[in-house]
Amino acid sequence: MSQAAPAPISGQLPVADSASVRRTAMRLILEERRWLVVLVTVQGAATAAGLVGPVILGDLVNQLAAHRATGQEIGQAVAVFAVALCLQAVLTRIARSRAAVLGERILAKLREGLIDGVLGLPLEVVERAGTGDLLTRSTTDVELLTTAVQRAVPDMGIATVTATLTVIALVVTAPPMAVVLVPAIPPLYLVNRWYLRRASSAYLNRQAAVARVNSRIQESMTAGRTIEALNLGERRLGQIEEEIQRSLRADWATFRLRVVLFPTTEACYILPLFTAVLAGGLFHVAGVLSLGAVTTAALYAQQLVGPVDILLSWLAALQIGGASMARILGVGEVPQPELTTSRPLSQQLTAERVHFAYREGRDVLRGLDLSPDQGRRLAVIGPSGAGKSTLALLLAGVFAPSSGRVQVGGVDVSRIPTERLRTEVALVTQEQHVFAASLRDNLLISDAAAADLRLWEVLDEVDLGEWARALPMGLATQLGSGGVAIGPAQSQQLALARLLLADPHTLILDEATSMLDPGAARHLERSLARVLRGRTVVTIAHRLEGARDADLVAVVDSGRVTELGTHQQLLAAQSGYASLWRAWASDSEPGVDA
Ligand code: ATP
Repeated sequence: MSQAAPAPISGQLPVADSASVRRTAMRLILEERRWLVVLVTVQGAATAAGLVGPVILGDLVNQLAAHRATGQEIGQAVAVFAVALCLQAVLTRIARSRAAVLGERILAKLREGLIDGVLGLPLEVVERAGTGDLLTRSTTDVELLTTAVQRAVPDMGIATVTATLTVIALVVTAPPMAVVLVPAIPPLYLVNRWYLRRASSAYLNRQAAVARVNSRIQESMTAGRTIEALNLGERRLGQIEEEIQRSLRADWATFRLRVVLFPTTEACYILPLFTAVLAGGLFHVAGVLSLGAVTTAALYAQQLVGPVDILLSWLAALQIGGASMARILGVGEVPQPELTTSRPLSQQLTAERVHFAYREGRDVLRGLDLSPDQGRRLAVIGPSGAGKSTLALLLAGVFAPSSGRVQVGGVDVSRIPTERLRTEVALVTQEQHVFAASLRDNLLISDAAAADLRLWEVLDEVDLGEWARALPMGLATQLGSGGVAIGPAQSQQLALARLLLADPHTLILDEATSMLDPGAARHLERSLARVLRGRTVVTIAHRLEGARDADLVAVVDSGRVTELGTHQQLLAAQSGYASLWRAWASDSEPGVDA
């Protein structure tokens, strides 16, 4: 019976929709409500201190108009004004630092969420999507979002509090003067909407165009000799010129947007003061407002320009940050495979009627059956592109078959949680990673509970003991970037030591030693032989040499096992394997004894 095919996973990672971005932003802000309350309170106090000045000036104007102000009263007013200004400066500074902390806390949560999302991604998704998209999301998108959260959010938070309180003060001091704000609102709204609709794509286009110019120039520099040898200089110059022209056009497009936005916004900023003087004069003449109230209201209208300008200038950055946040949150929206809690009943690995396709309708594996004998070594050989590496990924549970099943002890391999799977079946490839951490931490990845004694044992078993004892701080020595450099052969040995710690009963080897120089490969093969002892081993033998020493050989062609037997049986059967072997033996090892 076949298992149900998993939902197809497209190559691209998902992007969160705007409703989910808004919900997440709101949740993150609300989770920090304590900091938000502190920020609003301190900034509210700073704004209130700033609102005192216009009231004092308004009173002074009233008294001067009535010829009642004495020198002492003027002196007192100036002193209160100065104290209010100092208070405003101190409180604004405190509010700024609180706002920065708030931004950092939100950013830290987003980054942690991204790391959790990336680490929780099913391997299948990473394999299919490629690492480029993931890398862009973890670097460029995080950087863009950092700018938005570290600078835009605090600035906008402060500006919102300031603008709101200033408008309230204006309305309370001189209610009729609220009308002075009205003429500025429609043009400001319309021009900003017009700008924002075009800005992010125009700026992204410009960035992409600049990136293309850079990569063309860099390409031409690195391939200089080839370009010269093939006489391609003129053509390359033409291509660079074309890219520069494109980049200029993209730059002009953003310039045209700014040319409309900036003058219109500046004009709108003058409008409230202009209207305040005009309307205030009329209200005063009509006896509705005192001269002092008009002065205070006009100063408030002018004070609004700063925060409104900050709010508007950060809108584009916020929009770009929002797009990056959607891509970052998208990583967490990848559907997780259904995992099983069932324990395998035996250590038998089986592949039954397995079909698998990277692209719909183009099967790479077509009804493949394979059941390696426990504790024996099976070599899988076949022509390039036959599906050998794909089979290795399926046997190790990285991919799930589109139909058929790959199981260990009756449980689907791809549904066993990773932590548990690595104690059952492990994939060993030529790509081995050394983490920028201590040697001990690099080993404990496989078995967090292992004692130092056990770590030394496995290091000795893979011939790394001597090297590790010579390290300045033994197991505590930092490896990788910023620590002790470690070569490809040692990285492989370290990976083998991790395997010993995880202790899986079945190993899938895919080109584990092929990238190394022959000397290192032989050395590594000795360590590998010790690791393989007593385990079931499936070796993807990209070189036929590997097949001779195996207990059993499976020939894979066009996604199926076409021959199965011992090396000698297959040679005796005069099969396709026999001709492959003879061709390889005469080419690479003239004296080889079949
Ligand atoms: P080789 O010995 O050359 O490595 P192989 O037998 O291991 O070949 P696979 O690497 O499994 O073959 O590839 C089988 C087929 O699947 C090939 O046609 C290959 O182009 C295709 N293929 C492999 N990986 C992917 C992928 N990530 N996306 C799409 N197609 C792929």
